[in-house]
Order: sequence, then C-alpha cells, then structure tokens
Amino acid sequence: MKRIGVFICHCGTNIASAVDVKKVAAVAATWAGVVFATDYQYMCSDPGQELIRKAIKEHRLNRVVVASCTPRLHEPTFRKTVESVGLNPYLFEMANIREQCAWVHAKDKEGATAKAIDLVRMAVAKAERNFALSAAKIPVTKRALIIGAGIAGMQAALDIADSGYEVVLLDREPTIGGNMVKLDKTFPTLDCSA
Ligand code: SF4
Repeated sequence: MKRIGVFICHCGTNIASAVDVKKVAAVAATWAGVVFATDYQYMCSDPGQELIRKAIKEHRLNRVVVASCTPRLHEPTFRKTVESVGLNPYLFEMANIREQCAWVHAKDKEGATAKAIDLVRMAVAKAERNFALSAAKIPVTKRALIIGAGIAGMQAALDIADSGYEVVLLDREPTIGGNMVKLDKTFPTLDCSA
C-alpha cells in the first residue's frame, strides 16, 4: 500500500507570499494515498529535514513529495534525507512551486495556489508510480565516432583529438572534405581548398 507524505515549503516568504501553502497542504491531505501533509518554513534546513525523517518513521511513509524550489537545487538533499531513514531515494518526488508558481505568478495568489495544487497533485501521481531503483556505474568507452567528414566533421574530429580522445571519422565518399573539395579557392587566403 502506498503511504505518501507531502511537505510544502514556505521558503520564508519566497513561496508563502504568493502561494497559500496551508491550503495546498490541506488539499493534498485529502488525496487517496496521502497519509500525511504539512507545511514548513524552510524544508531544506536541518529542522525541516528532521521533520521529514520523523514523519517517515511515525507515519510509515513509503513515498515522499516535497513541494519547494527547483530540483536542481535540493533534489539531492532530500534524496539523502529520505535515504538516511531507510527509504529508497528514488521514491522521493519534488514539485517546483517556487520558480514555477510563486516567482512567475507573484501578483496572482489564487492562480499561483491553484497551479501549486496541480503541480503537487502531479508529483503525488508520479510518486505513486515510482519504484525503488539503485544507481549503477557503467564504464564509458572514451572514443568518439564522427559521421560525415565535411568541414564541420573534420573540425569536430580535430577538437576532440586535441582534447586527448581517439576519434574515428567516417564518410560515405572515398575522400574527406565534403563540399569543400568542390571549391577552387578559399577566401581570404586563396588557398586551394582540396
Ligand atoms: S527547500 Fe528550496 S524552497 Fe524550501 S527553503 Fe530550501 S531553498 Fe527555499
């Protein structure tokens, strides 16, 4: 059974001045599968993370949604938070209600709040469908294949080779150069192009 926890961040007044965070949490609490929903001033702070850990333990949450800022900023933070109390980090989802609601609809609280509810609903729907994953490290072959040995392909091959990587340059024609070989001379040096 899915037991989802939803955590709505104020980001001080960054989010809370434009989004009715208490309403978002109250609406989220009514959705099927959501067994806990709350709001907090600074969710990424130590007390904010502790609140999430405590709720996971107390409410036996097996999915967590945080509605706050861009995942670029704090997705790794919250993944570590949930992992620290035994939840697979890929069972965590994030909704960006700061950049995508509060900041872009700062003068429309009703609209920003409605959009925040939609974004959180989508994150909850995604969390419901998430399953535990494990990160894998796969070795990369550090060699480049360039298809097309025209002037762009040749330059790319040179640049990559200058960076220290082996390059394989392919062309359908028996000679390299592409359209360059059709030219007589090149400006401004009047060098032969072939
Ligand atoms: S989690 Fe993001 S939105 Fe919330 S307080 Fe931290 S920086 Fe602000």
